[in-house]
Amino acid sequence: MACAMAPPVFRFAPSPTGLIHVGNARTALLNALLARRGGGTFILRFDDTDAARSRTEFAEAITEDLEWLGIPPDRTERQSARLGLYAAGAEKLKALGRLYPAYESEEELDLKRGLQRARGLPPVYDRAALTLSETERARLEGEGRRPHWRFKLDHRLVAWDDGVRGPQQVDTSSLSDPVLVRAEGTFLYTLPSVLDDIDFGVSDVVRGEDHVTNTAVQIEIFEAFGAVPPRFSHHNLLTLPSGEGLSKRLGHLSLRALREAGHEALAVAAAAVLVGTSEAVSPVESLAALAERVDLSHISRAPARFDPDELDGLTARTLHQLPHAAIAHRLENAGIGGGAAFWMAVRGNLSRFTDAMEWWEIVGLPRPGIIDPADRDFLAQSATYLPPEPWGSETYAAWVAQVKAASGRGGKTLFRPLRLGLTGRDTGPELAVLLPLMGRARVEARLKGEAG
Ligand code: GLU
Repeated sequence: MACAMAPPVFRFAPSPTGLIHVGNARTALLNALLARRGGGTFILRFDDTDAARSRTEFAEAITEDLEWLGIPPDRTERQSARLGLYAAGAEKLKALGRLYPAYESEEELDLKRGLQRARGLPPVYDRAALTLSETERARLEGEGRRPHWRFKLDHRLVAWDDGVRGPQQVDTSSLSDPVLVRAEGTFLYTLPSVLDDIDFGVSDVVRGEDHVTNTAVQIEIFEAFGAVPPRFSHHNLLTLPSGEGLSKRLGHLSLRALREAGHEALAVAAAAVLVGTSEAVSPVESLAALAERVDLSHISRAPARFDPDELDGLTARTLHQLPHAAIAHRLENAGIGGGAAFWMAVRGNLSRFTDAMEWWEIVGLPRPGIIDPADRDFLAQSATYLPPEPWGSETYAAWVAQVKAASGRGGKTLFRPLRLGLTGRDTGPELAVLLPLMGRARVEARLKGEAG
């Protein structure tokens, strides 16, 4: 870990090979929120050394998705622009005797593994390449074989204190020496990741538990370079409700699709972070509030099912408690007026943010309500009792008392035609709060069946 006093540095390192899903969002959010909470830095690093599968449009989509979630990175890096650093790192490992050439083809390796399994042995690479003589190597190269390069593991117990899983240890003699450089000279993810983490001063790596084994290997690589490894935390993975793992390739639960379905980013963030932890999945008022609820040691060890149907309720409940200040810019961008009074009046009735637009049309724009012909006279009559402005929170009660006395109506026959006539809806926010927002002219026009 970096010096205890230094601000922490976290990173989210997706490969831009597809749209990120809610499981990737879990990783991104944990890193971003912990970085913010600790006054540190959040780096977005694109692991795009696989040129065939990486795409600029996915990198752009990921950047946009992080912005939508509210966690734009402090810094963005692309591995494809840093290949020189990785080549130099590979040379250094060679000089240290930790990176060696191996010539086996995929078929030969498959065959070896098959034989090991048949003998009841684990399919671990036998390091045959290490025993090649100069002549044998020259012969293989003469045949036109190009080597791939393997990291020579220390074959020891590698231990770390995992932020989620507690003390961990992996015996690297149970692992194959990992290939770091492919025969065609391209890098697999393992080495560039370590070199970048060293170069960027990454203090904390929070990632999915599918990387636990990589961590043992990577700790050995950090140490080969004389670097202190970061603190590692491996969170459980999210699955579909069926238990099937989430796949970027198959487009499962992409943030893009959740956004297009009208879900609130804060609701998606709360669900992505809190599901599968000892915290209840409940709405939050802000990402800062969500950050306060993050505790890596409270993350469960078992995979967590993510049910997108629960997002409907969470999106609604997120909107219901959102203060006006947190949403003012979105209301303004959507052309919705009425300020805090309008927002506080309608927020409790929204399932999606877009519903606010409909309420704004009802309250702030000229359009007719719904009037049953049988109620026409009653409503026109009611209009004559409207008091002069200014209107406040008491206006409605006073007016309705008069309407009631004059018409002799009560209960549903009193309230339903008023609500339908004024709003065109049979449910919605309290008329008492809507009336002052609509203003006398609009209310009067609606009651008379005009598009006020
Ligand atoms: N590109 C890797 C992944 O998406 C990064 C893992 C890491 O955070 O080190 O799984």
